[in-house]
Amino acid sequence: MSGQISFFESVGNYVEKAAAYTDIPKGLLQQIKACNLVLRIRFPIRVNGDYQVIEAYRAQHSHHRLPTKGGIRYAESVDQDEVMALAALMTYKCALVDVPFGGAKGGIKINPANYTVEQLQNITRRYTTELVKKNFIGPGIDVPAPDYGTGPREMAWILDTYQAFRHGEIDSIGCVTGKPVTQNGIRGRAEATGRGVFYGLRECMSHEADMKKIGLSKGIAGKTMVVQGLGNVGSNAALISQHEGDVKVIGVAEREGSIYSEKGIDVEKLLAFRAETGSIIGFPGTKSLPNNLDALELDCDILVPAALENQITLSNADRIKAKVIAEAANGPVTADADPILLKKGIIILPDFYINAGGVTVSYFEWLKNLSHHRFGRLENRFQHNAFEGILNKVQEMTGKTIGDRERDFLTRGGTEVELVNSGLEDTMITAYQQIRDTVLQHPKIEDVRTAAFVCSLKKIASDYISMGIFP
Ligand code: GLU
Repeated sequence: MSGQISFFESVGNYVEKAAAYTDIPKGLLQQIKACNLVLRIRFPIRVNGDYQVIEAYRAQHSHHRLPTKGGIRYAESVDQDEVMALAALMTYKCALVDVPFGGAKGGIKINPANYTVEQLQNITRRYTTELVKKNFIGPGIDVPAPDYGTGPREMAWILDTYQAFRHGEIDSIGCVTGKPVTQNGIRGRAEATGRGVFYGLRECMSHEADMKKIGLSKGIAGKTMVVQGLGNVGSNAALISQHEGDVKVIGVAEREGSIYSEKGIDVEKLLAFRAETGSIIGFPGTKSLPNNLDALELDCDILVPAALENQITLSNADRIKAKVIAEAANGPVTADADPILLKKGIIILPDFYINAGGVTVSYFEWLKNLSHHRFGRLENRFQHNAFEGILNKVQEMTGKTIGDRERDFLTRGGTEVELVNSGLEDTMITAYQQIRDTVLQHPKIEDVRTAAFVCSLKKIASDYISMGIFP
């Protein structure tokens, strides 16, 4: 929450602002903004011989496309407003990247660190049972995925619980995504959100005219980055930016504090150091800063808040020095901090664009599950033989021999992870181009967030209109 406005209201306010650049009828806009369904659950579990009431939710924001889709988070911040806001963001996110789903989000109000693995399994299975009982889960109904505090392990428990109730349902494996690869998951899903953050940033920074306006040269290579949160999203965004984009990570913020190094931080080594010591503080070659939010205020080109919402607020917005903010988390910049950052000329790549990589690859996983085979299985050998034939002909016609390594490279079909990454890369580039075209068409739009909402709104409105509900 920021000030008096709830998180859900603040998403609605952004939508209203963007709607002014569309001709969507008022009533339709009200329907698009509304959160259609919220399931509020309370159930008991036994902890150390006593009972504890667990508070949980699942919100389905929009059913203009089915199934609805979105993660399940385990965090103490979870409440009804938060899941409704995050479900709404899922609707706009899916529309923006052409993932044909409505938006949803679930949450259990717990700190997973306070529970044993067995207790977490009980909680997850009980929550899933409630979803099944209320018809809030299923491959064509509502498909959960990981979010803050959950991962492939929880998704495997959800699948197993669902299948216990729906034994024999042929598409049951598509009832949840982000599953372990060995449990009908897909390669590339674990790092997809972080990888998408990198592709989105790289695309944004490839436009010379846009970069010139903020005093940067074109291209992501050599730019400095600060990351908040070394969870799944933050660590992969930082690692991939460093390895594939030649980005220099100069600052990291985590629960236990912030660290800084002008020379750059090797993220891979930092992750190993944290796994061993339990902290980023004391990582060789870095200075530690007094508070855990201090790194956000470092002088850098790119800031990646990848933890929770409400990190850049009225209290620190005017001290942010980054030129580009990539909202890898959902809602890290509060609605009242947003205009302060924009006035400073900062480009904000909004959450529902920049972190859309996760749901994009979830969509690929769901497609794989429904088709019951691995991507490439049918066509790889055929393509290989066809390319071999072409190369043989080229050799014959030119009289030159193509080396074995080159031949292997030119004739092999893509592996699953290569196909997934190429689909993800294309998705992030295409969506950014649509956003940028919208800015060019509407000179009054000053920020990426508004332009991105315009793109999503137009697609959702046209879905409703083509359904015939709003003739
Ligand atoms: N929890 C992720 C998000 O907020 C992924 C959702 C999904 O894969 O369905 O986008």
